[in-house]
Amino acid sequence: MASLAFQANAAPARPYRTGWQAVLADAVRDPAELCRLLGLNHRVAAAAAPSGYPAAGSFPLLVPRTLLSRIQPGDPEDPLLVQVLPRPAERAEVPGYHTDPLGEAQATCRPGLLRKYRGRCVMVATRRCAVHCRFCFRRHFPDHAVPREPVDWQPAFERIAADGSIHEVILSGGDPLALPDEQLAQLAARLAEIPHVTRLRVHTRLPVMIPQRVTEEMLAWIRGSRLTGIVVVHVNHPAEVDAAVAAALGRLVDAGIPVLNQAVLLRGVNDRVEVLADLCERLADLRVMPYYLHQLDRVAGTAHFEVPEATGVRLIEQLRARLPGYAVPRYVRQPPHGPSKWVLA
Ligand SMILES: *Cc1c(COP(=O)(O)O)cnc(C)c1O
Ligand code: SF4
Repeated sequence: MASLAFQANAAPARPYRTGWQAVLADAVRDPAELCRLLGLNHRVAAAAAPSGYPAAGSFPLLVPRTLLSRIQPGDPEDPLLVQVLPRPAERAEVPGYHTDPLGEAQATCRPGLLRKYRGRCVMVATRRCAVHCRFCFRRHFPDHAVPREPVDWQPAFERIAADGSIHEVILSGGDPLALPDEQLAQLAARLAEIPHVTRLRVHTRLPVMIPQRVTEEMLAWIRGSRLTGIVVVHVNHPAEVDAAVAAALGRLVDAGIPVLNQAVLLRGVNDRVEVLADLCERLADLRVMPYYLHQLDRVAGTAHFEVPEATGVRLIEQLRARLPGYAVPRYVRQPPHGPSKWVLA
């Protein structure tokens, strides 16, 4: 009896994590397990496994279990699977594809702070994500460039406070919503102390990958801030939006938060007008406004995802002939320099 009582009173080594944090921690990391869960041939797993693919070591497979039910079992070309499963093609060295095609090292003015465009700046709040998207333009982003502890943000806050032209702070990553709400609430409070900052934009894939992430605590710090909160999610294919994701997006919009979507144009995922039209209509039905369709950034390991710009321009023209104007995203490319993203169509 005594030993049982002792065990019951022993404090856990770490705080017990529930809800979205448990889902985040429990993500699939082993290609063989992913393939087993999805009924895929072991050869697909072998091609993705880190032993046969050293480059995946720095950006390994990461898939939350909440995504699995949206992937068609047994289909190696499933448009959601293609976004997350490492392929041998990632190893190809293709001229013109670099580790930092957007010149982000040069745009980094303080640890974790990117300054490129007038009026707004980007805080890379964490390197962590709920999912590793194989086409990610920050897949080679250096670890050391991201502050680890809240105290390490001080130089970024000071830089923002010293520049009265900054009206909007964009939390990016990684995925800023991988951080706990207490930490995000502190960050938002700190930014709200800077009088010339009026808006806080959150770029995130978490509400789509792990819809449980949209908690009351999260809505509270966004809505409770003096800053106007805007959430930009990232959905590339309509199959990513199941009932739970639709409900999560609904909670955000019901809280009065403007929600926009950015997508990346990806070969084999969304490079057909039917898919893009379905995506945009599904989002508009959910009160999520299509914002940007990004041309792929030429980051090393992603060349097999590229769709020619001429195809993208044609797809946008076809969308415009089918959809209301507000449901057609701007097709853009991120240049390494220049005052804004380039609008291609
Ligand atoms: C994309 C981007 C922004 C935001 O651009 P918007 O056109 O306002 O969405 C800001 N800073 C950097 C470095 C960016 O890459
Ligand atoms: S969630 Fe965003 S930052 Fe993270 S891997 Fe995907 S695209 Fe990159």
